[in-house]
Amino acid sequence: VTDYHAEHALIGDHVASDVRITVADGTITDVVSGVPATGATHLAGIVLPGLVNAHSHAFHRALRGRSSALGDFWEWRRLMYRVAAHLDPDGYQHLATLVYAEMALAGITTVGEFHYLHHPPTGRYRDPNAMGEALLRAAGAAGIRITLLDTCYLRAGFDRPAEGVQARFDDGSADGWIDRVERLAGRSNTARIGAAIHSVRAVDVSSAGTVAAWARTRGLPLHFHLSEQPAENTACVEATGKTPTALLAGVGALAGATAVHAIHLSPDDIAALGEHGAAVCACPTTERDLGDGIAPIPELLAAGCSLAVGSDSQAVIDLIEETRLVELHERLRSGRRGAIPVSVLLAAAGRSGAAALGWDTGVIEPGRPADFIAVALDSTRTAGITDPRSAFIDAATAADVTDVVVAGVVLVADGAHRAIDDPGRRLDRAIRGLVDW
Ligand SMILES: [Zn+2]
Repeated sequence: VTDYHAEHALIGDHVASDVRITVADGTITDVVSGVPATGATHLAGIVLPGLVNAHSHAFHRALRGRSSALGDFWEWRRLMYRVAAHLDPDGYQHLATLVYAEMALAGITTVGEFHYLHHPPTGRYRDPNAMGEALLRAAGAAGIRITLLDTCYLRAGFDRPAEGVQARFDDGSADGWIDRVERLAGRSNTARIGAAIHSVRAVDVSSAGTVAAWARTRGLPLHFHLSEQPAENTACVEATGKTPTALLAGVGALAGATAVHAIHLSPDDIAALGEHGAAVCACPTTERDLGDGIAPIPELLAAGCSLAVGSDSQAVIDLIEETRLVELHERLRSGRRGAIPVSVLLAAAGRSGAAALGWDTGVIEPGRPADFIAVALDSTRTAGITDPRSAFIDAATAADVTDVVVAGVVLVADGAHRAIDDPGRRLDRAIRGLVDW
């Protein structure tokens, strides 16, 4: 049994002071506020539930700072495919371990890894899940929880089979995808499996229905990219006569699912996502980097959707920034402030994101997994702010995360990862060695 003493802590939607959090066997067993610090491990600043990164492609981290001069989304994608062409299971495990260490240092305690890089350039690995298992091991080595969202990807476009490096993503059919995913082995108390449909471009509607039905019968999370770029919507309407949302609704894929991006939506699309209780995962640092646009978050919330956030392309790994930008981008879109309640923003990086990945983390209360972080309130960025929630929403960054606890284990202390030495230098070396840049 370990006692932590938080100077301040987010309990529900409110900030309490002098909070004792008692942990046993990885679970929070008691939370009491207004108590002295005697004998407990002290956590300065504000203690929050561990941040949940609901949408990640770990290998995209290699593209940071290398694509900004290369033009539009599709140029960026060509560079991404070049990196994808070079990864093997050992190399990917090494890279992903360091990317997940960067996430841990940023206060991310759970990642949803949207994984589609399954196969070697030709044929299959002896273990057809070698790449997915490498990612599960990477999260274990970095000490964070993972939901491996194993992604079905079957074609280049509405009338084109998978081509070039996309052969590495392609299981041939939805049944081929199911055969492989059913053999995934590396589950643990911090690693789970979920399902994903890459997009309506990359998966035909009948196969999307098969994946969705399989995920539902097994009670697994289901995610998909949705309407990130206008070109994707145009191609979908031309090929099928329906929007991507309407197409997925028609095969029962929206219910309880998580739609990533959900930017270019019609009023009918928004209503359908809400009616089916879908979550929407905003990835604003990626969406601004790629020029995708701004999701209509207040409309989606009003329709009944929940909100999660993700680092997606790893343009930045900072869930505090992602959360802040949901509100700030909405201010730019609508010309008004405060359209998204602070409680919704905090939940997006916590319990709502966790629910989208099949976890019950994201709340500091007895019976919940002991995943929490401390954010400094005395840094140059946060100094002088009196409301700790405002420090988080308005000013703090990933650099203000000082301590991270996952499943009751101290993973980061005083800003240093306890299991991975010098992750920045090692990440630099791993990325430089990845391709002939
Ligand atoms: Zn993505």
